[in-house]
Parts: sequence; C-alpha cells; structure tokens
Amino acid sequence: MTGKMQARDERIPILRPRLPDADALLGYLRRIDAARQYTNWGPLALEFEARIAAMLGCDADAVISAGSGTAALVGAMLATAGRPPAAAAAIVPAFTFVATALAAEQAGYRPRLVDVAPASWALEPERLEPGTAVPGDLVVPVAPFGRAVAQDGWSTFRRSTGHHVVIDGGASFEALTENPGRFVGDIPVALSFHTTKSFSAAEGGCVVTTDRALARRVREALNFGFFDARNCVRASTNGKLSEYHAAVGLASADAWAATHADLRRVAEEYARRMRAAGHGARMQVMPAVAGCYALYACVDAAEASALVRSLTGAAIETRAWYGEGLHRHTWYASRSHGPLPVTEDLATRLVALPVAPDLDDAAIDRIVAAVAQGAAVR
Ligand SMILES: *Cc1c(COP(=O)(O)O)cnc(C)c1O
Repeated sequence: MTGKMQARDERIPILRPRLPDADALLGYLRRIDAARQYTNWGPLALEFEARIAAMLGCDADAVISAGSGTAALVGAMLATAGRPPAAAAAIVPAFTFVATALAAEQAGYRPRLVDVAPASWALEPERLEPGTAVPGDLVVPVAPFGRAVAQDGWSTFRRSTGHHVVIDGGASFEALTENPGRFVGDIPVALSFHTTKSFSAAEGGCVVTTDRALARRVREALNFGFFDARNCVRASTNGKLSEYHAAVGLASADAWAATHADLRRVAEEYARRMRAAGHGARMQVMPAVAGCYALYACVDAAEASALVRSLTGAAIETRAWYGEGLHRHTWYASRSHGPLPVTEDLATRLVALPVAPDLDDAAIDRIVAAVAQGAAVR
C-alpha cells in the first residue's frame, strides 16, 4: 500500500490539538527549576496573566488565572455573590457544555435550565422571561461554540434587575481578542484553556473582569479565601493554575499567531470547498465560531443521522459537543424545566466536523465528499 492510500483510509479524529512541544517548554521549565516555586500564582502564572491581559487590551489585574475553565466559573460565581441562600437558582442555558451547570452547583446554586435564542444559540437578556429569575438568583449566559457574549446587554440587564451575572465564555478567547471593547468589561467572563479549545494550556482557564474589587474576590475565591494573609475570608475553593500549566500557557501564547493562522487556513479551506460542493451556507467556521470548531448545520435530525452515518462510514469522527442538551444528561434528567425546543433542535442538527491546526487539504476533501454523500443538499 502506498503512503497516500494509507492516508486516505486513516481515521480522522474530531480534534487533534497541537500544544507546544518539549523544546518550546524547556526554557519555561528551567525557570521553574531555578525559582523552585511550583504553584500559588508564581512568576509564570503571573506572567501568563499579563500575556493574556495584553492580548485582551486590559490591565494585568483584570485577569485571574485558574486551574480550569470550570474552576474559573466557580471562582467568578463565589466572588460575585458569595455562597447563595439554599433556594437560589442559577439560570443556565440548556444548550451548553455540562460544566456550566456543574460549576453553578459547586458554587451552591440549583441550576434552572432555560432555552436559548435560535439565531445566537445563547441566552439573550431581552428574551429572558420576567419571573425566570428572582433577586438573589444568578444568570449564566454562555458563549456557545466560542461565540462571545457582549457585555452591554447584560450590563443593562444587571442594572435593571439586580440579578447577579457571570458569563461562561467557554471557548470565546479568540473572539475576545478580536473585539475586547465589546466582550471585556466589569461582568466577569470565565474562559477555558482546555486542550479542546483553540488556545490551550492543556488544563487551565481564567476570569476576566475590569471590576478591581471583584477581581480581588475572585483571587480569594480560587485560593481558600486567602489574599495576603492565611485567613479565609469567603466561601472558596482551590482553583489555581500551577506553574507547569502556566509554562504550557506561555509557550502557547508564543505560538498563538501561528496556531491561529493555521486554524484560520483550515476554516477557509472548509468554507471554500463546502461552497464549491454547494454546501457553503450550511457551514459555521471561524470567525462565526471559535477556530477549534467546524459545524455543519443540517436541516433536521433525520439529515443529521444520515450525515453522521456517512462520515462514520468514511472513518471520519463527528461529535455533538453539547450532547443532546443539558436536560438529557442523567444528572439533570429529573429536573423540571420549561419547553426547550431551540436547544433540542440545535443539539440534533449541528454536527461538528474534524479540526486540527494541521488538517490538510486531502483530509478536508475527504470530509467534504462524505458530507456531500450524507447530506440532503444537492
Ligand atoms: C470548555 C468549556 C467549559 C469547561 O472548561 P474546562 O476548562 O474544561 O473546565 C465550560 N463551558 C463551556 C461553554 C466550554 O466550552
């Protein structure tokens, strides 16, 4: 068998991340060896925060690194409103990764699942029905597939309702760097730097907020309630980023221009080839979503099943990143919720296609061919 034929049959995984290699990490690891500080917001974690802040055009103290996106969410929630009364609810969209609701539970809220808007796939402040939240409740808008959540609407909402708001920015780091004026502000945004995201520290995350007092409370909430004394001052956890993960994050920041350019090339090749095959209108790629996603929007569940069958038959992996919606997870299945027609529709129709910064044209051709065979569009 020739190499080319082998490549043609090779399974294409849904995501093949490419993080900094050992050579790229070495300089940072040597610095850890020399400093002998391994965590507790050491020099690398602080430098990482400053790098992120520079990429977002904000002050370094507006960024608090965290051990994961989920930890960042918990820290932002505890810092925003402390430990809530037992009856307090967190209004969470059903169309998200399960971490959004799990973090709210960790922070002491009972998640209440609500539907998203059909165009944005997100909660929209003007559409939240009056009475959905009562004072003391927390609203958690989510950036679906890295579509960033604007500050202004939620800022107005927070002022007029008095509800707490924490944004789950998930995979929206790229979008924040493109337009920080719109997406960075005093409402805290939790970001994930998990390996599945375009920009990654393997595991990691951060909270971004220009509210200095809140930023300090986030730091306390992520470090046993300590700030400059070993005295616990608030409900809190341990959610810090270690120096080793900060090293990966810093090396990822060094490589970000190249990684981002590679993801852009993949998005453009997808869009170009899908257009040529008559499927262009169905594709959602960067910048409509984060570069780690390439989504094909089917017309209905039947077409999505046919598409997934066709792709699976061609050894191409697909994924429903948000499953069938939060309410379909066993843990949340018994919770009461209102109708969730938009979530149900999106979760069944949006099929994620493979992404890798080095996904080559031959692989994209293979994927487009399998899509053309499986999808109903002609
Ligand atoms: C990735 C993601 C998370 C979880 O982040 P981790 O870093 O994996 O803890 C939460 N919410 C959304 C929307 C995400 O995409």
